[in-house]
Amino acid sequence: MKVIDHIKKAKGKTLFSFEIIPPVKGKSIQELYNNIDPLMEFKPPFIDVTTSREEYVYIDRDGLLDKKLTRMRPGTLGICASIKHKYDVDTVPHVLCGGFTKEETEYLLVDCHYLGIENVMALRGDAMKEEKYFSPTKGGHQYASQLVKQIQDINTGNYLHEVIETDDCSNFCIGVAGYPEKHMEAPSLKSDIKRLKEKVELGADYVVTQMFFDNKKFFAFVEAAREMGINVPIIPGIKPIAVKRHLQLLPQVFRVDIPQDLVDAVEACKTNKEVRQVGVEWCIAQSKELKEAGVPVLHYYSMGKSDNIKAVAKEVF
Ligand code: FAD
Repeated sequence: MKVIDHIKKAKGKTLFSFEIIPPVKGKSIQELYNNIDPLMEFKPPFIDVTTSREEYVYIDRDGLLDKKLTRMRPGTLGICASIKHKYDVDTVPHVLCGGFTKEETEYLLVDCHYLGIENVMALRGDAMKEEKYFSPTKGGHQYASQLVKQIQDINTGNYLHEVIETDDCSNFCIGVAGYPEKHMEAPSLKSDIKRLKEKVELGADYVVTQMFFDNKKFFAFVEAAREMGINVPIIPGIKPIAVKRHLQLLPQVFRVDIPQDLVDAVEACKTNKEVRQVGVEWCIAQSKELKEAGVPVLHYYSMGKSDNIKAVAKEVF
C-alpha cells in the first residue's frame, strides 16, 4: 500500500515509522531483524531502507595502493523484499541519483515493481567522501527532481528508450527530502523550498524531513512550504541523541542546530548512558508536541539501533 494511502486511512492519527541502514557487506541480516523486532509492536505501516553511495577503498598490492570503487552497504532492495515478506509491512527503498546511471535506475524500479514495492524515496545522495561537491554519475541525474520525473515517466509507461503500453504500469508513490534548516548547499531556505516545490510539481507525493531538534524550525518550515503551495504530507524525521560525540557529529554531517538547552544537558552528563537518557527524553518531548500538532507520521532515524527508538515509542504511541 502507498504511504499516502496509509496516511489517508489513519484519518488524522499519527503513525509510527522508522528508517534502517543495510548492514556492512558480509554481515548477517539477522542483526537487522534483531533491531526491527522490538519496534514492530508499534505497528509501523512502512519502513525505509537507506541506500549508501559507493566509495573509494585503497587495496595494498605488494606495497602499491590500488584504488577501487566499492559499495560498503549494498542490498537495499533485497532487504526491502525480505522485510516486506517477513513482517508483512510496506518498505520504502531509497533511490539515489549519485552512483547510478538512468538505465540502472530504470532496472532498479522494474525490480521494485516486480517485488510489489509501491513506494520509493527519490534522493540525490551526497557527494562522495573524497569530493567536496556532488557531481552526477556519467549518464545519471544531477538533482532529485530529475529522478522524480524519471519515476513518474515509468509510472506512465515512458521508459528511457521506449514507450510501453501495458495494463501493468507501476504506480510508485514518491517521497522526497525536505530540510527545515535548509539543505547545506542551498543559498537560502526560501530557494530550497522552491526546489522542493519543483519536486512536488513533478510528482512527489510526500516529503520526509531531515532530522531537527527544535520543533519550531519544523513548524516554520511547514508553514513556509504551505505558503509556497506545497500541499502534500510533510513527515518529520527525528532522532534521539545517543552519545556525546553527536553534539559535533550531527551538526557537521547534517547541518542541523542543536538547541542550547539540549547541548547543556548533554554536556552535563558523565556517561553515555546518561546522554542516552537525555536524548530519549528530549525526543519524547519533541514527539509528543509534534503528535499534538497533528503530524501524519513520526519517522525515526534508527541508525541501526532500536533500543532508544523503542524507549521513545513506548511513551508516545
Ligand atoms: P535535491 O533535491 O536534488 O537538492 C540538492 C540541492 O540542490 C539543494 O540545495 C537544492 O536546493 C538544490 N537544487 C535542487 N534542484 C536544483 C536546481 N534545478 N538548480 C539548482 N539547485 C537545485 N543520502 C543517501 O546517500 N542515502 C540515503 O538513503 C539518504 N536518505 C535520506 C533520507 C532523508 C529523509 C533525507 C532528508 C536525506 C537523505 N539522504 C540520503 C541525504 C540526501 O541524499 C542529501 O541530503 C543530499 O545532499 C540532497 O539530496 P536531495 O534529494 O534533497 O537533493
